[in-house]
Amino acid sequence: MLIGRTADSLASIPERLAQPAVERPYPLPEIEVATQEPLERLDADWLEHRIRPGESFYQIMRAMGFDPGTVQSVMESGQQTRPLLELRPGQVLRASAPDGVLQALDLEIDSLNKLEIRRDDGGYFAQLHTRPTQTTQNQAAGVIDSSLYLSAQQAGLSDRLILELAEMFGWDIDFTQDLQPGDRFAVVYNEISVDGEKVRDGDILAAEFVNRGKVLRAVRYTDPNGRTGIYKPDGSSLRKAFNRNPLPVTRITSRFNPNRVHPIFKTVRPHRGVDYGAPTGTPVRVTGDGRVAFAGRQRGYGNVIIIDHGRGIRTLYAHLSRFAPKLSAGQPVEQGKVIGYVGSSGWATGPHLHYEFQVNGKTKDPLTVALPQAQSLPDAYKRHFTKQTARWVAALDALSTRQVAESTAKPMP
Ligand SMILES: [Zn+2]
Repeated sequence: MLIGRTADSLASIPERLAQPAVERPYPLPEIEVATQEPLERLDADWLEHRIRPGESFYQIMRAMGFDPGTVQSVMESGQQTRPLLELRPGQVLRASAPDGVLQALDLEIDSLNKLEIRRDDGGYFAQLHTRPTQTTQNQAAGVIDSSLYLSAQQAGLSDRLILELAEMFGWDIDFTQDLQPGDRFAVVYNEISVDGEKVRDGDILAAEFVNRGKVLRAVRYTDPNGRTGIYKPDGSSLRKAFNRNPLPVTRITSRFNPNRVHPIFKTVRPHRGVDYGAPTGTPVRVTGDGRVAFAGRQRGYGNVIIIDHGRGIRTLYAHLSRFAPKLSAGQPVEQGKVIGYVGSSGWATGPHLHYEFQVNGKTKDPLTVALPQAQSLPDAYKRHFTKQTARWVAALDALSTRQVAESTAKPMP
């Protein structure tokens, strides 16, 4: 599976987890990178400003006394100036203008990255400097007593790692409902440091979750083409090829029922899908990878999208208020992509999504139909996979064994 945060997996994480706590700042390189020597510091005085919420680069530069033309020239000094448009509170901006003309500008993007802009004949040029990092491994384990969040925090995991852990197993465990006191977890993860000092957590390499006695394991693997995914230790996929629901489940107003008797006509009018009550405009996400087979109007369905997933499976999304921009027949769509928005077009009494799941032309109950697993690792990668992941699985074994020993060790009477 490609690492992605689908609405479905997020929905199954407790609210506290879903809050983006530590956000990955500017995309950072994981492994050692060659670093250029920072340019020579100018002797002149530097103006320094710590970014506050809501401030823009333009405002700050104007406040420092630079004219709009200078700001413009700086912005035009290259692609690398992008962080100036994405300033975050706490970052530090320094400017040097000994004769009133901006000579140098530094932005401390984060503990690893620094943007340096220098005056060049007539214009400015920008360079991004990255401090070399080291990657080491760490591990943590814990037993759940009330919530995953609290127990994982006690075990020393950062918010980011807790969220990643919950996402890894989000396909198999509903963290809002399935957890039981005594469930436990073990995690092996990367730590990124600079000059021996930890600056942040890296990715989870392997994890184990024991839920109601059932052992689930996951490992991270990057194939020779650079595609990273999360797999079971045997190389099979952890995720399902389909999400159960096309939008976060708020209210199911009508279930699949082939024998529904119409309340007024007293005749059998089957309901071949599930209705999700949701406000007009709520994004609807395609439940599996596929291609748009139809996007347009059909009498009762109103604005409707039909997705062909291959293997005889089709899904249908009806009563939409509108389609995602540029959606058209034949277009490939990836699981979790927003394809349209809830509405009440067609024969609908109020805004809701009508969702159908068809297998070889027959409609099935979307809430109970057996969902196929996503594809496993190709055989060609199996050896590479085992080689890359064996250490982390072994580390997990050791961690898990120790955890069991500790939890069963009873004090002597
Ligand atoms: Zn319906």
